[in-house]
Amino acid sequence: MNTQNLEKILISEEEISNRINELAAQLNKDFKDKEVILVSILKSSLYFMTDLSRKLKFPIKLDFLELNHYADEDNSGVIRVTRDLEFSISGKNVIIIENIIRTGLTHSYLLKNLSARNPKNISICTLLHISDNKLLDLPVHYTGFEIEDKFVVGYGLDYKEKYRNLAYIAEYKENPQS
Ligand code: 5GP
Repeated sequence: MNTQNLEKILISEEEISNRINELAAQLNKDFKDKEVILVSILKSSLYFMTDLSRKLKFPIKLDFLELNHYADEDNSGVIRVTRDLEFSISGKNVIIIENIIRTGLTHSYLLKNLSARNPKNISICTLLHISDNKLLDLPVHYTGFEIEDKFVVGYGLDYKEKYRNLAYIAEYKENPQS
């Protein structure tokens, strides 16, 4: 793999693994004996969902939602569901598994879309949260790491579909010399 655009490793494989153990311990306490549908946002939260879910001790079902971001005529972003959930979430406990919350726009769309399906409750668990770049102030119940406003790849996150399979999270730079 071409790694020349990878500026530096921000979060190592070991740090991710340790933090996932901590998040799982917290979730196991909060959702003890409850039935939960875990909703993974494809494709970026696939690895996080896989690693986290294996540490959970309460009964879970896995489901997947794929979103796509389009630019419309006035160039504002439009989000559409390109693969919908398999299960009904009506009356169920739902945990949304996201890999990164940057502006919060995707997150806001998800909350609106899934809340309309009348779940019992919705919790949000994100691996990464950009601490100083939030346009919207929305609830995030479980956060792996607060990171600075940098474009990152790895552990599910891509640049043009590349780098998803890195075991760590790195900063990506278009022009590494700058
Ligand atoms: P939002 O700005 O709506 O919070 O994030 C939009 C989506 O853009 C995220 O769900 C994620 O798929 C993608 N995204 C945001 N920041 C990054 C980043 O630093 N790296 C990568 N690879 N994708 C990102």
